[in-house]
Amino acid sequence: MSDTLFDRVALIGIGLIGSSLARALRRDSPQTKIVACARQSETLATVRRLDLADATTHDPAQAVEGADLVVIATPLSAYAEIGQRIAAVLKNGAILTDVGSVKEAVIRDLRPHLPAGVHFVPGHPVAGTEHSGPESGFAELFRDRWCILTPLPEAAPDAVAEIGRMWERFGMRVVMMSADHHDKVLAMTSHLPHLIAYTIVGTATNLEESLKSEVIEFSASGFRDFTRIAASDPVMWRDIFLNNREAVLEIVQRFTEDLTALQRAIRWGEGDKLQELFTRTRAIRRSIIEAKQA
Ligand code: NAP
Repeated sequence: MSDTLFDRVALIGIGLIGSSLARALRRDSPQTKIVACARQSETLATVRRLDLADATTHDPAQAVEGADLVVIATPLSAYAEIGQRIAAVLKNGAILTDVGSVKEAVIRDLRPHLPAGVHFVPGHPVAGTEHSGPESGFAELFRDRWCILTPLPEAAPDAVAEIGRMWERFGMRVVMMSADHHDKVLAMTSHLPHLIAYTIVGTATNLEESLKSEVIEFSASGFRDFTRIAASDPVMWRDIFLNNREAVLEIVQRFTEDLTALQRAIRWGEGDKLQELFTRTRAIRRSIIEAKQA
């Protein structure tokens, strides 16, 4: 486990995902020099206190100087400006990757800025928690999770393989997909569930005071699981919905139709329809457990 993955890595954004990556590099590639970039001095002070980087800076251009690997791990709304600021400084032959939860928008925002000679490999480690910031990360976050890479047709195979090897070293299973397909899959598996959680918790907070306190008191009956998801970072999730608009709207439309069908079954006392659906959904849960994704 001591082969050095990259000599010099720049992490632009060092919150939950960036700091988990820094910890995994420290553990599995201790010779790698890490430069961390964030906007707030407090973030960088935490990074230094936790020894997550060898150097810290507020300036993305300074961070990427001489880096073999650059990883963007900020909310999606920061990507375009970061792309502009680092473009001229990226080392020839460097690999640029990211961890963003939407992939077509990332390509839209970064690709136009990148000079020839820089290898761009968009990626998404599908692993996370509802916490954010450098203190919330941990190296084991990636273990047994999927990492989806969405390389463009022009991507150099060696660069794609190197990024794949890095995530595999951290315990991930790596799969290739088109960015468009990634965004559709994630709209269903991640973005819709978050939207539903935000809606349910929003509905509860709109309830009148007396009912609201009981909702909190008796939350263990199902509501609590939604509140955990709905505690996820507001900026990150705002950006995901704005940047995966079409795929999310399509899946919300289907969900709304299915919800209406269930509403109808309840209204008309169609127990067999309800039971049939609940039996099918139980089987899905079993297959997730068998796939070790529970
Ligand atoms: P996070 O914990 O909130 O961290 C974001 C980091 O970016 C912070 O260090 C923040 O520090 C920095 N930052 C924000 N704007 C910046 C800018 N303009 N320039 C430089 N640094 C900037 O977020 P996260 O959960 O790690 O998510 C990061 C990315 O990973 C997002 O694109 C998200 O879609 C993706 N992702 C998240 C999860 C998850 O479950 N959380 C899972 C997979 C992928 P300052 O505030 O000090 O700038």
